Amino acid sequence: MAANNGVVKEGGLIVSFGEMLIDFVPTVSGVSLAEAPGFLKAPGGAPANVAIAVSRLGGKSAFVGKLGDDEFGHMLARILKENGVNGEGINFDKGARTALAFVTLKADGDREFMFYRNPSADMLLTPDELNLELIRSAKVFHYGSISLIVEPCRSAHLKAMEVAKDAGALLSYDPNLRLPLWPSPEEAREQIMSIWDKAEVIKVSDNELEFLTGSNKIDDEAAMSLWHPNLKLLLVTLGDKGCNYYTKHFHGTVGAFPVKAVDTTGAGDSFVGALLTKIVDDQSVLEDEGKLKEILRYSCACGAITTTKKGAIPALPNVSEVHSFLNAPHH
Ligand code: ADP
Repeated sequence: MAANNGVVKEGGLIVSFGEMLIDFVPTVSGVSLAEAPGFLKAPGGAPANVAIAVSRLGGKSAFVGKLGDDEFGHMLARILKENGVNGEGINFDKGARTALAFVTLKADGDREFMFYRNPSADMLLTPDELNLELIRSAKVFHYGSISLIVEPCRSAHLKAMEVAKDAGALLSYDPNLRLPLWPSPEEAREQIMSIWDKAEVIKVSDNELEFLTGSNKIDDEAAMSLWHPNLKLLLVTLGDKGCNYYTKHFHGTVGAFPVKAVDTTGAGDSFVGALLTKIVDDQSVLEDEGKLKEILRYSCACGAITTTKKGAIPALPNVSEVHSFLNAPHH
C-alpha cells in the first residue's frame, strides 16, 4: 500500500522506466519555434507521464530513470512525488543536465520536437545504478525506446527489463518513436525491433505502425505483421478514431470519444496508464473480449480527456474526472 495525497492505494506496482524531461511549449499555438514569442516549461517524458497517469487513476506506480542534479531535475522529482509516484528508482547525475525538449503545437494540435541532450542525465543511467529491489517488486514493467538510443542507458534498460521479467512482471512497451533523436531511421527501426519479442503488451500509434512495417496501410494485415508469440495484446492507437486491438484469439476496434482537442500531448501515455492500471491485478481480462473492450473504452476516455487541456501532466485525469466524462449524456 502507498499513500497518495492521503489516499491509501492497493494493488500491484507498475514500474515505468525511461526519460523524464522538461518540455518548453510556446505560449501561443500554431507557430514555429523561431516565431514563438516565449515558452512555458512543462514536465514531460512518456514513461514519467505514464507513471503519473497510473497514480492519478488510483494505481501504484514508480518511476525509474536519471535526472540532472539541477533545479529542473529536482523539480521533476518533486512533481512525481506530489503525484504519488514512488521515486526510489530516481538517480541524479552531478555532471549532466536534465534533458530539455522544445515542442511546438501546430495549428491542428500536432507536435514537433527539438531536443537538448548533449548528453542529458537520462542518457547516463548505468546498470549498476538501478534499484533492483524496486524493479523486482513490479507487477508490470513499462518502457519506451528512447532509452535504447545510447549507452550506458541502453544497457541499464536491457538489464532492468530482464530483472523485471525474471521476477515475473508483465512487460509493456510503447516505442514512442522520436526520429530526430536517432542517428538514422534504419537504426531506429532496428533498435526498436531488437526488444520487440520480449514485450507482452505493445502499443503503437498509427504513425509508428507505418514506420515499423514500411507499409502505408493501417490495417489488420499490417498490424498482424508485428505479432509475435509472446505477445498478449497489441494496440494500435488512431488518434480521434480510437484504437484497434489484437490478441491471439480476437481483434477489433474501440471508437474514440468526440472532444475538442487543443493539445494531443500525452494522450497515448494517458491511454497506456489507464490500460495498465486496469490490467495489473487481473491479466485474465486480456483473454475476455467483452472486459477488454470495456477497459479500452475507459483508456480511450482518458486519452480523449488529455487532449482537451494544454500539456501532458496537467491534462492527465483522475478517476472522478473519467467517471463524470463517461457518465456525460453524449457518451
Ligand atoms: P499517441 O499520443 O501515442 O500518438 P494517440 O494520439 O493515438 O496516441 O492517442 C491515444 C488515444 O487517445 C487514442 O486511441 C484515442 O482514444 C485518444 N485520443 C487521441 N486523440 C484524440 C482526439 N483528437 N479525440 C478523441 N480522442 C483522442
